[in-house]
Amino acid sequence: MKRTVSFSKNSRNIFFHILTNCNLKCKHCYINKEQHGDTLLPLSVMETWLRSLCKQGDEANIIFLGGEPTMHPELPQIVISAKRMGFDSITIDTNGYLFHNILSKITPEEVDFISFSLDGPTSEKNDCLRGKGSFETCIAGIRQANKKGFNTSLIYTVSRQNIFDLEAMAILLKDLPIDRFFIQVIGLRGRSGTRRTETGRNATLQVSREDWQRVVPPVAEQVAEYGITVTYPKVYLKQNEDFECAGLVADNYFIFPNGRVYRCPLCEDFPVHGREFQGDTLSKTEPINEEDLFHLNIPEGCVMNKIIQPENIRYHHDGTPMYKIACCLLKEEISA
Ligand code: SF4
Ligand code: SF4
Repeated sequence: MKRTVSFSKNSRNIFFHILTNCNLKCKHCYINKEQHGDTLLPLSVMETWLRSLCKQGDEANIIFLGGEPTMHPELPQIVISAKRMGFDSITIDTNGYLFHNILSKITPEEVDFISFSLDGPTSEKNDCLRGKGSFETCIAGIRQANKKGFNTSLIYTVSRQNIFDLEAMAILLKDLPIDRFFIQVIGLRGRSGTRRTETGRNATLQVSREDWQRVVPPVAEQVAEYGITVTYPKVYLKQNEDFECAGLVADNYFIFPNGRVYRCPLCEDFPVHGREFQGDTLSKTEPINEEDLFHLNIPEGCVMNKIIQPENIRYHHDGTPMYKIACCLLKEEISA
């Protein structure tokens, strides 16, 4: 069954980057230390920040990420604190290296999902994007987590270098103990966002609209047939489809170690964050910031896409766009 996941007005999602350091150097890494700092947040600060965002009444979900969050020695303690604070779901995103023996310090009762990142169906394909040895390590990590009773999911970031490996990935997934499969589109942020060529931003990694539409939805259908729930970004909207900006209608917070809090992930490379932790207090920042941009109503859809990657949009002869770019947070979900 395929459905577009509408933005929930009654749930809060917190994407907490608890550090920016990582043992890998993926080609498409979106972490930008100049903008996000390189601090390892102490437990007391993480707890204070989370407490101020833990919503009473409505659903609240937290995703711990980095950098590589398992490199943070206090990850188990902040997971346990988040559970006690009453977060409804807790996810850890990891590259699979599972540092500090993390799986023996947390339990499946405390963590809803451990989400692994893999960008190819073989060592050969994955490791040239994510680093030598990362494929074998990630697969071993998935199996180990499953053996210990954790729910596991897998994130595959589609770029021009691996889009045609998605079909082979589907075959690999059939034999992996994975409950959910997330297909992401290569970002416009961090390392991948700065690889400019004369033909446009990041031309070596970005996928075309045609390739995306030809490859991603059929593979998603195929994977769903194995009983795995698949989620992928909608990316393109027809002119008659409604556009919504999550910055205006959803309750998402992307927190970084230097205290910046964004409502939109596409804004993360710029100092336009709408909120900021100053000490223990979450304050609004001065205009002009991302929250002013969200109100700009343009025929192309997402205003940040138009600013960062205008070459992604095509126009008719009369100047009207052929399609709208959906909010990067709008997802399609397929379940068996
Ligand atoms: S994408 Fe993730 S795993 Fe890869 S270098 Fe960046 S933080 Fe590390
Ligand atoms: S990606 Fe675009 S549409 Fe989505 S929150 Fe950001 S500015 Fe709004």
